[in-house]
Amino acid sequence: MSVQVVAAKMAEVELKDINSKSLPAAMPVAQKQEEKSAIKSQTAAPSPSPAVSAAAKVAAAPEDPTLPTPSPNLMKMPQASVLKRTEPQHNGGEAFINPDGTVTEAPKTVKKQIQFADQKQEFNKRTTKIGRRSLSRSISQSSTDSYSSAASYTDSSDDETSPRDKQQKNSKGNGDFCIKNIKQADFGRREIEIAEQEMPALMALRKRAQGEKPLAGAKIVGCTHITAQTAVLMETLAALGAQCRWAACNIYSTQNEVAAALAEGGFAVFAWKGESEDDFWWCIDRCVNVEGWQPNMILDDGGDLTHWIYKKYPNMFKKIKGIVEESVTGVHRLYQLSKAGKLCVPAMNVNDSVTKQKFDNLYCCRESILDGLKRTTDVMFGGKQVVVCGYGEVGKGCSAALKAMGSIVYVTEIDPICALQACMDGFRLVKLNEVIRQVDIVITCTGNKNVVVREYLDRMKNGCIVCNMGHSNTEIDVASLRTPELTWERVRSQVDHVIWPDGKRIVLLAEGRLLNLSCSTVPTFVLSITATTQALALIELYNAPEGRYKQDVYLLPKKMDEYVASLHLPTFDAHLTELTDEQAKYLGLNKNGPFKPNYYR
Ligand code: NAD
Repeated sequence: MSVQVVAAKMAEVELKDINSKSLPAAMPVAQKQEEKSAIKSQTAAPSPSPAVSAAAKVAAAPEDPTLPTPSPNLMKMPQASVLKRTEPQHNGGEAFINPDGTVTEAPKTVKKQIQFADQKQEFNKRTTKIGRRSLSRSISQSSTDSYSSAASYTDSSDDETSPRDKQQKNSKGNGDFCIKNIKQADFGRREIEIAEQEMPALMALRKRAQGEKPLAGAKIVGCTHITAQTAVLMETLAALGAQCRWAACNIYSTQNEVAAALAEGGFAVFAWKGESEDDFWWCIDRCVNVEGWQPNMILDDGGDLTHWIYKKYPNMFKKIKGIVEESVTGVHRLYQLSKAGKLCVPAMNVNDSVTKQKFDNLYCCRESILDGLKRTTDVMFGGKQVVVCGYGEVGKGCSAALKAMGSIVYVTEIDPICALQACMDGFRLVKLNEVIRQVDIVITCTGNKNVVVREYLDRMKNGCIVCNMGHSNTEIDVASLRTPELTWERVRSQVDHVIWPDGKRIVLLAEGRLLNLSCSTVPTFVLSITATTQALALIELYNAPEGRYKQDVYLLPKKMDEYVASLHLPTFDAHLTELTDEQAKYLGLNKNGPFKPNYYR
């Protein structure tokens, strides 16, 4: 079939769906047959639960003049049925669960096994500090490498005692938590209050849901980065009626003072910055293995919590209504489970929501790349030659920021479309080996593996800064630098000089882990958008009547994305244009959205 015929057929499908107001999720043209059946299943999508409508109305009720005033149809947005995505579209080099429960890298080059905690793990046998450090290298990738706002303003290094050896209670005598130091609670509270200023939609949801409790009875177990922004989300979930127990999804990213503030506020939090692998799984276990409390919802970032419940407490899934997953890695794992027929509850893929990808990946990185580089190296950007590997959302953000600072930016790409975008945005598209000798900074953002290998590291010039903005620490072959002839010097926290025998040194940041999240903070406002999407996904899954969602992975509909975006517009005093009846008819749209088909990115 010619390209034109296929395109025409796609347009036909699109038009038909717009008219029927039931929009299909994007899917490959080659899967025409699947496309037909997918469309059929979507038009037969179930109608929303009354509780969700109530939650949505509450969420959208324009009580506070400083808050968004959504149109009546926006108020109904979360009622829209959730669309199923037919095919995961992720980068390679991530980890996923095999049907047998082991975790391997996905997809294409599926070889390397990642160590997961054993079922028979004895949590009481703990390691020394040195042992903890070495253990952390074998920990699951998502726990070490998934992104977060890692900066903590309190220094925990002076207290060597493991939180597991401390008996702490909050001011109300409650000791159901395990954190670094409850005395930091006041400081953490201030951090949370600062974050609240930049999370308008969550604050709106909280305020408007005071009477209605769309999450009443929900028992949410969460495993995410424990930061001030997460705290705002958790406190919002609690305000909507949920009980929460929480562990960290990354051993380095917990803001200890925030964890303390949450514990002081009565949350069962089990997390601290610098956990060992053993601590990591122990904390997760403490969240789920509780007398008289069983979770009925999961909020995961990376899939480790979900994995743990699958392995240790599979019966818990009888009571669990759904999983909301944020990360690329975790979503991979869910699709693998689904493919293997082992997913036993419905799951929402928040990672692929437009409001996550187009904001978190692009704008977050556009702002935080400079912060991460500056804090670690004090480098001046003007006139520096930089190569950015990968011109997806993250690469676009990094390239734009550095160009704006006067850097000369080169881009590498494998995909001709992204490559053409780079060219049209004014960047020189090169192969890495063409510029590797001359560049001052190398940034990877491909989501792939072995993009910067030893051969390139050998050829870099003296003083070259090397860092990664992708999810996993697989992009730079850091392991290849751990050879006897090279000397490592830790010059600052998260900054290593790797020195060659001839005296040449490169500056390696965060040992090849995500730069922005290891070495700086990320913009709260962007996280607000993702967190709001997570909260709405939880409300929808929790309130959905039996049978609406099957044991599969679902995407939130475009309408929901539009709703989340609309809640953030008032921050900018933005004035949205409304379609006239005539214009809506002309475009074949409902005046109140959705304004774009689901595949529009
Ligand atoms: P993306 O898929 O949009 O972009 C990645 C790009 O890299 C693609 O265009 C791909 O063609 C290209 N690529 C793949 N292999 C390559 C190679 N060997 N050489 C050159 N280019 C190559 O993904 P994205 O949204 O830009 O995310 C990239 C990574 O960043 C992911 O791992 C993602 O999880 C992570 N991420 C990081 C942050 C952060 O705050 N640092 C935020 C969001 C996502």
